[in-house]
Amino acid sequence: AGGNRVKVFNQQMRVSVQERITGEKMLREALAGDRQQNLPVWFQPIVRAEDGEIVGAEALVRMCTADGTILGPGHFIPAAEETGLIVPLGEHVLRTALRYLQEWSDDLRYISVNVSPRQLAEADFVPLLADLLTASPEIDPRRLVLEITETAMLGSSHDVRERLETIKALGVRIALDDFGTGYSSLTWLQNIPADVVKLDRSFVAGLSSDPRKSSIIQAVLWMARSLGMSAVAEGVEEEADQLALHAAGCPFIQGYLFGKPVPPAEFSERLQRSRMA
Ligand code: C2E
Ligand code: CA
Ligand code: CA
Repeated sequence: AGGNRVKVFNQQMRVSVQERITGEKMLREALAGDRQQNLPVWFQPIVRAEDGEIVGAEALVRMCTADGTILGPGHFIPAAEETGLIVPLGEHVLRTALRYLQEWSDDLRYISVNVSPRQLAEADFVPLLADLLTASPEIDPRRLVLEITETAMLGSSHDVRERLETIKALGVRIALDDFGTGYSSLTWLQNIPADVVKLDRSFVAGLSSDPRKSSIIQAVLWMARSLGMSAVAEGVEEEADQLALHAAGCPFIQGYLFGKPVPPAEFSERLQRSRMA
């Protein structure tokens, strides 16, 4: 590349750069058009480990392309993060989640929304959140959970911490997402005023047949409890894991065993059915 600089270039990189460029273009178009149509927010149940009863839902965004294909977030979130488009995208998801919190107020305790580090780094994020909550006084802010990842702490952790304190003062709850996969989970646990830990799928899936996983989970659950935090285990696909988690004292779980993310209409039906049951 001239001077002393060397660039390594291979097929895989070419594909991923191209994907990112199309991802960005599609995302800009999707955000400019009908966001509900182009960027539907789907919901996955979060259930009580004891009996599988739905208590909450995680909002997970999708992209609907012109030909009707539904893309998962892996196809466009990285581009959104890089370009900053995650900020309007995140606002759209937050607004949508609040709308459904209202619609499902009788049947759903809370909705959990992913907040990217980039969003949290924006000085406008907390004022936006406060405005949205003020505009919907009938929604109890405690019914909103914001899921953050450890990378939110890179950069100025002091500012982030302060922002999280303000968010908590609004009544909104904070969950530590993908807990255990980062590099400094304990530092994070010590410094962040979180209400919930979400145990990552990588050490939840298959725990019933893996004594090491099961020991780690038990220790993390013990820590969470001692810190007064709740816990949600992610990626539960097998009943044996549900039973093991319940036995280990994990209060809440999420995973394909109880349902994949589905469009709001389908989630509504599911809530109706469980209400009648
Ligand atoms: P995440 O926040 O860790 O969300 C959980 C992911 O695990 C979801 O994938 C969900 O469908 C998947 N999952 C849940 N249960 C199971 C299971 O039992 N087995 C398996 N194999 N997978 C399971 P999804 O919807 O593809 O989302 C991927 C990631 O994209 C999310 O991971 C999150 O980091 C990001 N994401 C999704 N929506 C948003 C959003 O609105 N904003 C931001 N910033 N990120 C988002
Ligand atoms: Ca999440
Ligand atoms: Ca997660």
